[in-house]
Amino acid sequence: MEGCLFCGIVAGDVPAQVVHSTDRVVAFRDINPAATVHVLVVPREHHAHAAELADAAPEVSAELVTVAAAVAADEGHPDDYRLVYNTGAGAGQTVFHAHLHLLAGELTGPLA
Ligand code: 5GP
Ligand code: ZN
Repeated sequence: MEGCLFCGIVAGDVPAQVVHSTDRVVAFRDINPAATVHVLVVPREHHAHAAELADAAPEVSAELVTVAAAVAADEGHPDDYRLVYNTGAGAGQTVFHAHLHLLAGELTGPLA
């Protein structure tokens, strides 16, 4: 989608530290981490928020969770991690391309 930051990262037009990638999902480090491990897992296809994604593509929605689990394990936290979706500006959503926050290790700051 034109002007979408995370579409830009998925396309490789905006630089990001990608840690995991599949044909449907990309995971990259959050630029302003709120935990020792803070990775964003996004669908390659643009959807504004988690519920829109789950409605349009439930299998991709599930893949975000399984990719997040794989990244958590890769980062040394196979059994203890948090998954967060912010939905709506009032709840802190700032990028309107669905993204799952993976947080593991120590919390180091507020989540948007
Ligand atoms: P939200 O507040 O929408 O749930 O989460 C957006 C997240 O994207 C924030 O945690 C913010 O730090 C992160 N973010 C914003 N701009 C960039 C960027 O250019 N690159 C990366 N890697 N993360 C970003
Ligand atoms: Zn997008």
